[in-house]
Amino acid sequence: MYPCVTVNLACIRNNAKQVADLCAKHHIRVTGVTKVFAGDPVIAQCYLDAGITMLGDSRVDNLARMKDLQAEKWLIRPPMLSEVRRLVQYADVSLNSEIEVIRAISKEACAQKRLHKVILMADLGDIREGYVKEEELLQAAVETERLQGVQLYGIGTNLTCFSFVQPDSEKMAELARLRKAVSEAIGRPLEIVSGGNSATIDLMMRSGIPSQVDNLRLGESLLFGKERARYTYLPGTDPGAFILECEIVELKEKPSLPWGQIGVDSYGNRPSFTDRGQHRTKAVCALGKQDFDPETTTPLDPGILILGASSDHLMLDVTDSEHQYQVGDTVALRLGYFSTMRAFTSAYVEKKYLNE
Ligand SMILES: *Cc1c(COP(=O)(O)O)cnc(C)c1O
Repeated sequence: MYPCVTVNLACIRNNAKQVADLCAKHHIRVTGVTKVFAGDPVIAQCYLDAGITMLGDSRVDNLARMKDLQAEKWLIRPPMLSEVRRLVQYADVSLNSEIEVIRAISKEACAQKRLHKVILMADLGDIREGYVKEEELLQAAVETERLQGVQLYGIGTNLTCFSFVQPDSEKMAELARLRKAVSEAIGRPLEIVSGGNSATIDLMMRSGIPSQVDNLRLGESLLFGKERARYTYLPGTDPGAFILECEIVELKEKPSLPWGQIGVDSYGNRPSFTDRGQHRTKAVCALGKQDFDPETTTPLDPGILILGASSDHLMLDVTDSEHQYQVGDTVALRLGYFSTMRAFTSAYVEKKYLNE
């Protein structure tokens, strides 16, 4: 059945190992982020096979899918007050920025007779989650330390996700300083300081992370071998872990330019087209933006050009391919980050594993 995504487990195991080993050389422990593949336990197991012992996801539902895996499970988005019961049930750790929520976690953890570890987030400029005011962060730390059922595990930050503020040695020095300030406020050392995501790897490789920052939460780099500051591929990794096949449902010669009056797309933008001539071989595939993201996808056949996609149709120009495509043939696409995420969220995409 198509569309179908094939997951190369050996490739993920290798990528994760290369990156986790690289991090270990720079005193960094890795939390393997699983949200890209919706917490599929078969894929998450590849992280564990690579020696990673902590798994992180932004959805409690995904953590629940991984309940049988032996790992420390983190919720890496601030928890909803309404999901605290399931949070305590399925997560060992969560990233937090509201004391009200931490109080609710404390109560629930006591009721369930469990211990939940709290990482307090500092917003160092990306304007997403976390405390901006140090005083508030310190107050939250002191109160968390006093609450039953929860344990203050450490602090963390997230950058390059909303405002694309880059991690640099100043931001890391700030985090190191906060570690000291929090430790002094509670009178004991913290266990962990989580310094960011795949965008921090480049800085790490240039030895720009102080020893007080000792954890990264990684998704994109573990799966695709790609760091996110300069978008370079890391040594010994392979970006082709997720290959999606879709079926050609129409193949015809068509002009490269549309004809008629052109309006705006669903986002209010006027589309633009490149003139490649009158006689192009165009393929329409049964795949759409519901199932993948055209902008983070690369056809394996270098002669294929992705022209664009609507919700349910993918338009390709196959004129320059060496292959003679026919209706009913499939086309293989290498998926990047957002494309993989969509494929795993779409119920229409079949999932298969390759284990060699
Ligand atoms: C998604 C996410 C990550 C992982 O990001 P990558 O760029 O895939 O490494 C880390 N931390 C948080 C809080 C996230 O939401």
